[in-house]
Amino acid sequence: MSQNNDTKDPKSTMLNGAPCASERRSISIGPDGPLVLHDSHLISTLANFNRENIPERKPHAKGSGAFGVFETTEDVSKYTKAALFQKGCKTEMLARFSTVAGELGSPDTWRDPRGFALRFYTEEGNYDLVGNNTPVFFMRDPMKFPHFIRSQKRTPDSSLRSQHMQWDWWTLNPESTHQVTWLMGDRGIPKSWRHMNGYGSHTFMWINAQNERFWVKYHFKTDQGIACLTNEEATKTAGEDADYHRRDLFESIEKGDFPSWTLYVQIMPFEEAKNYRFNPFDLTKVWPHGDYPLIKVGKMTLNRNPENHFAQIDQAGFSPSNVVPGIGLSPDKMLLGRSFAYNDAHRYRLGPNFEQLPVNQPKTKTNYYSFDGAMNYHHSGKAATYAANSQGRPYADEEGPTEATWESDGELVRAAYTLRSDDDDVGQARTMMLDVWDDAQRERFVDTVVGALKDGVKSPVLERVFEYWKNVDPTIGQKIEDKYKQG
Ligand code: NDP
Repeated sequence: MSQNNDTKDPKSTMLNGAPCASERRSISIGPDGPLVLHDSHLISTLANFNRENIPERKPHAKGSGAFGVFETTEDVSKYTKAALFQKGCKTEMLARFSTVAGELGSPDTWRDPRGFALRFYTEEGNYDLVGNNTPVFFMRDPMKFPHFIRSQKRTPDSSLRSQHMQWDWWTLNPESTHQVTWLMGDRGIPKSWRHMNGYGSHTFMWINAQNERFWVKYHFKTDQGIACLTNEEATKTAGEDADYHRRDLFESIEKGDFPSWTLYVQIMPFEEAKNYRFNPFDLTKVWPHGDYPLIKVGKMTLNRNPENHFAQIDQAGFSPSNVVPGIGLSPDKMLLGRSFAYNDAHRYRLGPNFEQLPVNQPKTKTNYYSFDGAMNYHHSGKAATYAANSQGRPYADEEGPTEATWESDGELVRAAYTLRSDDDDVGQARTMMLDVWDDAQRERFVDTVVGALKDGVKSPVLERVFEYWKNVDPTIGQKIEDKYKQG
């Protein structure tokens, strides 16, 4: 039998680095005899194959992404001191786009919000902006999130997706109305990831060099222009090419057609939040542009495909808790819940040292007091593992208010947000439906809702759906009911 004895340049190797004899033949006792346990290459090949798959993300499982650069083109230093948002700064970045409810094999063109997760490898550490292609979301309290996601996934018995279950949850949680209106509208199925906007969705804090605080909302407007698929186009595409959006992004970048987005922000002075007519931290609401106009910041361009999807996209662990000096969170309850949940999901999926993987590693010098654990790779040698220490290892020791601070007081309660003068569940959905859309868009919306209802929504959910839409606009709600009953 021939051996692979070229130890300097073996054709392939085993896991220990020694030359591999064959990727095509296992060892048997004679050509027709049984296999042997000490064929360690066969054993590791089969064993590793069994372990290739890791748990998929619960929401946002199906996605892909690319690397690129963000350039700050405007002077916004009066709002933030963050290094990446200083005029002229160019920052390497990663973007991952995804559907929300679909699983790894689901078609890209099902109606769903799209994830729009961004990582900026800044000179002050990694900054992640984990947004969506919609400026709002379905709920205001993270306690509801797992319930919501289960209602959009699969039934316990048949493991089928169910419009009945989806609408059951939506109609029992009327704060979902704005996001469901958005979802059932034209933008509910983007033509490609390149043809959709991205939004930070939550309200965040910016802090300038004088430590003045501002509330901020991010809007990444596509430079390719908004384009969407009709229901018919999306259904056909789902059958013909389940990876349509993934392919579109990869092939565009491959041929040098680099997609870009222009970043705008809305800025609210810190004190104005207290008396603004909408709760500015409510994730089911936007800040109308008439109140807070868009301010240009810069441009993000995606120009480099991953070399390895699993290592660079699947193992990318984004988190809203990854902020840098000059940027903070806000009292948005959903944001605060997410700031725990994301890294916890990565610890489960990827292990406690996921931050050490190349795609997750910051480009900055680190000195963290976090040690060992499964698959630990980086270490600090024999340096002290505790603070305070008298062995010369530095440690931070600040006191006083945190940089991104806000005041809060009161008893511990379980309660919805206090309502402001213009706060309700349906007003902004109504504005979009009646003031932003035209007649043709409203007709397509009615058709889309009726189509979904005919896909297995039963009483009493059905009647609740009619009421849900009548609360937004009686005429549109009635149209939905009439069209459904016409059969
Ligand atoms: P504006 O007229 O200033 O803004 C309307 C917004 O609606 C624009 O951002 C526009 O995006 C977007 N839009 C247009 N068509 C659709 C669609 N089919 N689906 C979803 N969004 C669409 O008004 P206001 O700022 O006062 O907002 C009015 C309503 O517009 C809001 O109640 C909200 O429902 C919706 N909206 C508001 C946004 C905001 O941040 N203020 C953002 C997105 C939606 P584009 O510029 O790309 O055309």
